[in-house]
Amino acid sequence: MAPPRKLHIKSYGCQMNVYDAQRMVDVLTPQGFVETASVDDADLVILNTCHIREKASEKVYSELGRLRLARDEAAQSGRRMQIAVAGCVAQAEGEEIVRRAPVVDVVVGPQSYHHLPELLARADAQGRALETEFPVEDKFGFLPQPRPETIRARGISAFVTVQEGCDKFCAFCVVPYTRGAEVSRPVAAIIADVERLADNGVREITLIGQNVNAYHGDGPDGRAWTLGRLLQRLAAVPGIVRLRYSTSHPNDVDDDLIAAHRDLPALMPFVHLPVQSGSDRILAAMNRKHSAADYRRVIDRFRAVQPQIAFSSDFIVGFPGETDVDFAATLALVTQIGYAGAYSFKYSPRPGTPAAEMPEMVPAAVMDERLERLQQLIDAQQSAFNKAAIGRTVDVLFERAGRKPGQLVGRTAYLQPAHVFPGPGMSPDALVGQVLPVRIDSLERYSLLGELAATPPQHARPLAATGA
Ligand code: SF4
Repeated sequence: MAPPRKLHIKSYGCQMNVYDAQRMVDVLTPQGFVETASVDDADLVILNTCHIREKASEKVYSELGRLRLARDEAAQSGRRMQIAVAGCVAQAEGEEIVRRAPVVDVVVGPQSYHHLPELLARADAQGRALETEFPVEDKFGFLPQPRPETIRARGISAFVTVQEGCDKFCAFCVVPYTRGAEVSRPVAAIIADVERLADNGVREITLIGQNVNAYHGDGPDGRAWTLGRLLQRLAAVPGIVRLRYSTSHPNDVDDDLIAAHRDLPALMPFVHLPVQSGSDRILAAMNRKHSAADYRRVIDRFRAVQPQIAFSSDFIVGFPGETDVDFAATLALVTQIGYAGAYSFKYSPRPGTPAAEMPEMVPAAVMDERLERLQQLIDAQQSAFNKAAIGRTVDVLFERAGRKPGQLVGRTAYLQPAHVFPGPGMSPDALVGQVLPVRIDSLERYSLLGELAATPPQHARPLAATGA
């Protein structure tokens, strides 16, 4: 039998890429590949790229420069290393990668990685293989299921893609071009995935999609199901104790999703709901198709049914034409909503998007100053939110033993890391996968420290952040 070939995947960016990297492993495992943590002893290196961050493609080319050296070293010791570029940069720059980086054997877009075995074989035969078309077939129908031992090794939390692509065309965003039009997976396929994960020890599922709450997959009754309805069904899968979903668009929050937050104890009261700006003028220029007031109303609908709910968001500062008045509206919105955390970035143009053609770029120094002010406000809110847990008893889903002997690490409903020492007679390993009440004593940076509590969590005092 041929010795296993070693596979190293370096993944950048969003949860979807983390999920795709796992599925690439599932595709290549039956081909005799095993994962390695080291580039240097890999027979195949895959860069699973992200196009969201600034200068994404330049970063890929410099990484490829480093890989060329690793490949030369492997060749000197008589070993062949293949290199593949996958993900959104591969989709956006396919031919350009082939032209600029001869070291690359395979370029594969996010909708085609189920073809990796054939592409590697084609690269062997022809020197190169490129596939960045959106294939007619659904890749999910062709992806092998992960092996039970692989699922167990990945831990008690898992991502499941339910939807891909986006039809919203926000002016700054490449996703509609790199991931294509919105497509939802059928309900039955998602239930089967979740049941299989639960049977192999997974306790928490995060449903993912670029625009996850636009989900409209075919249901077993022949009708399109909403995300809320799908969540209701998945909450009934034995073994699943926590459900999450990401990333949502405010315009796609419907009654079913609100009802799911009202009715499902397994659905965590923590929602990532990007808004990008608090200025209606900038929201219109971004083609977001909602106002700041619309966004506030959506937040209010969640809060009306689930007082424990907390939010995170995404912000872009310095979008073309953003004035001091526009930026002040963003600060006002953040202050009013009160976030448990948020991601904020300076605007940078993405080639091929409408915003990249817009004049009135905001000077870099102004962007820097605005970003700093926004991040200070968000940090203060996050810190207040985390401090509010001290002295309370909260539910923690335990994920793994900690780095210190006898320590156990888990997460709260709000994804805050929580650390406890269960004490003598209690094996940390036996508690992994359980939701247990923890009395929080203190905070160390972003982690909560506490001890297992005999009493159930207190929900009397809402944990939602208040504006700083
Ligand atoms: S909704 Fe999200 S994924 Fe879709 S275009 Fe806008 S920012 Fe991009």
